Amino acid sequence: MSHLSASVFVRCSCGHLHWGRYGAAGLLLVDPARGVLLQRRAWWVHHGRTWALPGGAIEAGETAVTAAAREAFEEASVPAESFRAVSASVVDHGDWSYTTVLALAGSVEAKVANTESAEVRWVDPDDVPGYRLHRDFAAAWPALRDRVGQELVLVVDAANVVGSRPDGWWRDRHGAAERLRGQLARLAEAGVPDPDDPAITWWPRIILVVEGKAKNVTGVPGVEVVPADTDGDSKIVEVVAKHADARILVATADRELRRRVEALGASILGPGTLRSQLDEL
Ligand SMILES: [Zn+2]
Repeated sequence: MSHLSASVFVRCSCGHLHWGRYGAAGLLLVDPARGVLLQRRAWWVHHGRTWALPGGAIEAGETAVTAAAREAFEEASVPAESFRAVSASVVDHGDWSYTTVLALAGSVEAKVANTESAEVRWVDPDDVPGYRLHRDFAAAWPALRDRVGQELVLVVDAANVVGSRPDGWWRDRHGAAERLRGQLARLAEAGVPDPDDPAITWWPRIILVVEGKAKNVTGVPGVEVVPADTDGDSKIVEVVAKHADARILVATADRELRRRVEALGASILGPGTLRSQLDEL
């Protein structure tokens, strides 16, 4: 398979021709100050002269994220270091799929970088429907629009999650919280499925709330650690309230705490579900 070129059209069961033997991916780059980065396709490419995202065929062995990043660099001069992937959604046709990677941009000057691009432009999300859009991007936009600028924050009740499995954690609560932190750091890189929509993956900001004998656990890349001086539950409620503009998942089985954070708009991730995701890493 690895010798087959990715750059071919696929005749799909949906009745359309699509580009990319291994599917395709695009980058939806979001800058809160400038909008979203759109690219006008050159006249000679498939669906030429329409506006869409920088993107293209996934090469053999690439992930959708590395493919989207490579294409954004080749077409719009956007370096991979200049953005952070926040979520991805897959439109799966069976024979072919398209993955849109949503990312938050740092300071980056996008510009036309190859002949497949006629123009790149930052566009206010509200103005996107007014552009002459590529058919597939136009169809995907309403759902994507809802996630523009949105992040997932995963708040983890360390004591509750550690306590959900009788593995001897009570002999070393600090060590058990550190092990959980290490697993969460890997999860931050691997991503978590959206609890309501399995076609969406999030690369969450993870906040681990620790208390008692685990209070001195420190943060690592991918995992922010927040110590609770007295009451872990109140600290978690405080953290959730502080991130009101994000999509929030709280990992706890504590009923009273669930009630309090759900009242603030958070969703709940059961410790068992979280631990089975961690076990898969
Ligand atoms: Zn199709």
